Amino acid sequence: MKPELVVVGPLLPALMETLDRDYVTHRLWEVPDRDALLAEVGPRVRAIATSGHHGATAALMDALPNLEIIGCFGVGVDAIDIGHAKARGVIVTNTPDVLTDDVADLAVGLLLAVARGIVAGDRHVRSGKWLQGPMPLMRKVSSGLVGIAGLGRIGRAIAKRVDALGARIAYYGRRSYADVDYPFYGDLVSLARDCDYLILATPGGADTHHMVDRAVIDALGPAGALINIGRGSLVDEAALVDALVAGRLGGAGLDVFEDEPRVPQALFALDNVVLQPHVGSATVETRQAMGDLVAANLRAHFAGRPPITPFF
Ligand code: NAP
Repeated sequence: MKPELVVVGPLLPALMETLDRDYVTHRLWEVPDRDALLAEVGPRVRAIATSGHHGATAALMDALPNLEIIGCFGVGVDAIDIGHAKARGVIVTNTPDVLTDDVADLAVGLLLAVARGIVAGDRHVRSGKWLQGPMPLMRKVSSGLVGIAGLGRIGRAIAKRVDALGARIAYYGRRSYADVDYPFYGDLVSLARDCDYLILATPGGADTHHMVDRAVIDALGPAGALINIGRGSLVDEAALVDALVAGRLGGAGLDVFEDEPRVPQALFALDNVVLQPHVGSATVETRQAMGDLVAANLRAHFAGRPPITPFF
């Protein structure tokens, strides 16, 4: 008998194929009456497959009284009610490490794109404006101080790349780490005041909600730039847009937003802003590795082994 599994929203096609082969799958987004489906199959379901975007609510978990495990495609689990899963004794797995390099690459890509005006330069050429004159001068990265909020797996991979660029590094977090030499700041406003570029690589969720507020943005100032590859919820987006429009912040490179895929229209006209549609881990290789890890976690659990990458 194949275990029954609820899929919250569309996942990588290769992962869906594996899940369809190994489980009886119930696709929540395809049914006209989700509650009716859950009332019918809920007691038989032992697993949820979801993503950092689709998440899993307490109400969904409660519709599945025999739920054992949630497999999340993605490392950020802030869209999953972790407290409820813990209270229910439900295992949550995510996909750390396999996506670290790609997300760090994108963070550094955004840093260079914003500081050097790479996207604006492309527009300058394509629009024919080069024929009328050169671009304004941009900012040097390698003489700057890059602040990293969240020196975890991705933060450290960013630091390695920034090191290679020759820039200095400092970091902010809940605690300092004995195994790194970079200066530590326990206060984000102070780090923002001292650094030229601030890169966010912390998880989303209640603890970090709007940790970049007006005070942090003003401390970064017109000569500074913010790069966010963490979560949209980390930043008070209205305050960010106000500062960028008013010229109180020098620039921003954003892969994540508060209400994805909706992005504040005011940003579209700004040349000092580079926008990405949440693609930190979006390469063929990494998405395949993430899918494989989701499947491997579920397989381990149903074979009676501990999951490979439990979130807690
Ligand atoms: P990680 O290894 O757990 O690192 C998270 C870092 O943030 C740790 O240094 C952690 O410090 C710090 N942190 C956690 N809570 C904090 C708080 N309340 N205040 C300050 N610092 C805090 O996770 P990771 O694998 O690097 O991933 C980080 C995040 O990147 C994910 O949670 C996700 O939101 C985001 N992400 C985005 C994309 C994308 O496509 N843009 C892709 C993957 C991941 P401690 O040592 O104190 O725990």
